[in-house]
Amino acid sequence: MKTQYYLDYNATTPVDPRVVERMIPFFSERFHNPSSFYHQAGEVMEELDAARVELARLAGANADELFFCGNGTESDNLAIFGTMLQDKKGHLITSAIEHAAVLNSCRQLQKDGYDLTILPVDGHGFVDPDDLRKAMRKDTRLVSIMWANNEIGSIQPVAELARIAHEHGALFHSDAVQAMGKIPVDVQSADVDFLSLSAHKMYGPKGLGLLFKRRGLHLRPLVFGGGHEKGLRPGTENTAAIVGAGEAARLVSTHMREETERVRLWRDDLQTRIEEKIPDILINGDREPRLPNTLNISIRHIEGESILALLETHGLALSSGSACSSKSLDPSHVLLALGRSHEDAHGSLRISLGRFTRREDLDHLMTHLPSTAERLRMISPFWQNRES
Ligand code: PLP
Repeated sequence: MKTQYYLDYNATTPVDPRVVERMIPFFSERFHNPSSFYHQAGEVMEELDAARVELARLAGANADELFFCGNGTESDNLAIFGTMLQDKKGHLITSAIEHAAVLNSCRQLQKDGYDLTILPVDGHGFVDPDDLRKAMRKDTRLVSIMWANNEIGSIQPVAELARIAHEHGALFHSDAVQAMGKIPVDVQSADVDFLSLSAHKMYGPKGLGLLFKRRGLHLRPLVFGGGHEKGLRPGTENTAAIVGAGEAARLVSTHMREETERVRLWRDDLQTRIEEKIPDILINGDREPRLPNTLNISIRHIEGESILALLETHGLALSSGSACSSKSLDPSHVLLALGRSHEDAHGSLRISLGRFTRREDLDHLMTHLPSTAERLRMISPFWQNRES
């Protein structure tokens, strides 16, 4: 198979081989349903409990505040619908750069008769806490603002936003799917009520989401069945994935600091090299605080999709916009929210690094990106018009 130079860690991460190794027995000799009577089942249940403890520790939560579900999308839905559906009406607030899992949930509620405010962001991708303060109403029930953005990496002032929500009597949810594993996430110091996570963004398996729900708070379930996950998310547990996620959390706790430092240095170095080699580019979300692994650029006057296709022929895997929305031809809603033109949003590339990134991945990108950009610009009418 051709070598792949993988630079798309925000889309998904490879499952760490140590995670795979922990998971394998749960497909074979340890296959038991954890709710069954015999002792093997009880032992599987103990493994799930241990994974829950490990994951909770990583988020600064208590184990009984963490619930397993199908993926990050489901976790976002549970927090948002689970809060709002407890009343027939009410107001909720989110931001313009949320992942579709949050934005489309909020829009569905709006179609169903709830009031929705979508806060803007500034040119670097940050929500202004004053905008939230002004948007709060007596009937605001929930504020949902992401911890870190998947496309540009901007990190929101979550603790301050949560405080504003609470001062006005509302609950606060944060989608931390991209933050967890890349930067410290602590539900206590940020004082969030609900937090959403996904194992496949932190070297665990796909198909496992987590929801933190602060003790004492109630959510309406979205599916009904047995008593699993205290009735909040019934269905036989995905035992292998849960054990894998627990191992992934343990590895994050051990390696995050050192990984983050390395990845940040390499990302910054890559940004400098790109700026030196390719004229007329924009860095999207260039201000701190931002995720240490994420670099989003617009190579002006050419299309991101064409660059991606040509880079792919050299084995380079990266993305233009989020993986989940890249099937659509619409420009990224995140870049438009920053104030980028449709054309500049179309020319965007997201480069995201991670645990297994090698120097040669970045060197290989730098061997091909400048020449590819130049080649495409030579045939781009936008570039030629710009020059004349
Ligand atoms: N939230 C954010 C910020 C994401 O980046 C993603 C996935 O890209 C999700 C939610 C959805 O997570 P999952 O793929 O586990 O459904």
